Amino acid sequence: MTTAILSALPEEQSSLVPHLLHPQRLVHAGRFFWRGDLCGRPVVLALSGIGKVAAATTATALVERFGVARIVFTGVAGGVGDGVNVGDVVVAQDYLQHDMDASPLFPRWEIPGYTRSRLACDTALSALLLEAASACVSSASGQFGSKNGVTAAAAGVLHRTHHGLVASGDRFVSAADESHRLRNSLRDAGHDVLAVEMEGAAVAQVCHDYGIPFAAVRTISDRADDTAHVDFPLFVQTVASRYAEHIMLAFLQKL
Ligand code: SAH
Repeated sequence: MTTAILSALPEEQSSLVPHLLHPQRLVHAGRFFWRGDLCGRPVVLALSGIGKVAAATTATALVERFGVARIVFTGVAGGVGDGVNVGDVVVAQDYLQHDMDASPLFPRWEIPGYTRSRLACDTALSALLLEAASACVSSASGQFGSKNGVTAAAAGVLHRTHHGLVASGDRFVSAADESHRLRNSLRDAGHDVLAVEMEGAAVAQVCHDYGIPFAAVRTISDRADDTAHVDFPLFVQTVASRYAEHIMLAFLQKL
């Protein structure tokens, strides 16, 4: 039973590759895939690139070409919920596309043909990710922060693990007013969003279509506000791959 570990950016994946046993690099659909064993389990490490279409193409290739039995996404996201701070970790409970709007034909955010806006992540996989992430976050507070030159927002702060709704869309949200608007309009419709990113909802939809389990963990790299363009690259370069390494290895050992 092969597990796919999918990321959008090389920095979100790079620390996992050296842990692979019997590594084999393949090119398919213009993307690089690594096949091998991680913590005694067969895995495929995949890089989608940024955005929902790239993520859907890669997820489809993982199912059709590599025959994976489940997909776990590891990456970074912008925090939009109260208290979802840089250096915190969000495990997705479900996903929504914040840029989906086929109104008035369908209710705002509903995926046409699916009679719903939100797609749930797999409960059992998400519980394991939560355990792995919580252990990593409590040992990482202070360690990944002050010593590694990460942004002031993350340094020396006690970090938290959150579990809830994540929204994806083809936009890098990098202005406080946009982030507030997005969050408030969704909240008024009963969708309390913790974080925004650009791939997860697409992978959730592909996994839903193929009937395979999906789970996702995202470390908060920025607050999707006016300093996001500064916080994001700093965080991705200094911390993202180490979070991915610690959380995914702990997760695979629990699987
Ligand atoms: N110019 C950047 C683009 C990164 S896009 C680069 O260096 O390549 C941001 C990536 O991180 C996406 O994969 C997305 O899933 C995630 N992300 C982090 N913060 C985000 C935010 N505030 N809004 C949307 N996506 C975010």
